[in-house]
Amino acid sequence: MRVVLIGAPGAGKGVYAQYFEEKYCIPHISTGDIFREEIAKGTELGLRVKQYVESGRLVPDEIVIEVVKKRLQQPDTEQGFILDGFPRTINQTRALDDIVAIDRAIYLNVSEEVAVKRLSGRRVCPLCGRVYNIYYEPKPRVDEKCDYDGAQLIHRPDDKPEVVRERYRVFHETFKPVIEYYRSSRRLIEVNADRPLREVLPVLEKVLIETGVLRVPLCRDVKIE
Ligand code: ADP
Repeated sequence: MRVVLIGAPGAGKGVYAQYFEEKYCIPHISTGDIFREEIAKGTELGLRVKQYVESGRLVPDEIVIEVVKKRLQQPDTEQGFILDGFPRTINQTRALDDIVAIDRAIYLNVSEEVAVKRLSGRRVCPLCGRVYNIYYEPKPRVDEKCDYDGAQLIHRPDDKPEVVRERYRVFHETFKPVIEYYRSSRRLIEVNADRPLREVLPVLEKVLIETGVLRVPLCRDVKIE
């Protein structure tokens, strides 16, 4: 299963990727995660990309493309992969097609309204890192306090409604050409990501199996919450 996962903040990209990664042992490759890790480790690559990542600017195409090319040569990608955060430009999209045959791009289409509600309701425990939502499960048992250690939960600055709206706008501006590229090459699967995961995921999984995109054996039995 060689797929690209595209979704605005709040679409639930991480949860979808995690599901396929756990159930079928297909690696979830996020360029953002790779860069953050390299920066934290202080590697040469980390030093090269630090200024871009920390100011929220795009890392130059030639660097990102090289990083992805290398990552896709690792043996764990033999049965496929889920790319997240890449490609982000038309240049990257074309380069990816030269590296490997991408089966499908899965576009998790979430409305601005739902994205804002999901992210502005998110609360994080500063001590243990557990994530809650004041509108959806898991909700904290006591308002704004962590169930496990009682710490005051944090509302991340980039989860504030006005910031979410801006991130949503930037996402559409950036990814529109990428989405259109996969649509015009008939490889786009568009999912209504406003609906709950337990409704959408089985349908998506069925489509991927029926179209022959997902044909690896089950790795673990994973329940959808
Ligand atoms: P976000 O979705 O908040 O931008 P990501 O984790 O996808 O977060 O990426 C974090 C940062 O890493 C980006 O702001 C950018 O600097 C860099 N980055 C990640 N993927 C790419 C890419 N495909 N092209 C250019 N820069 C990228």
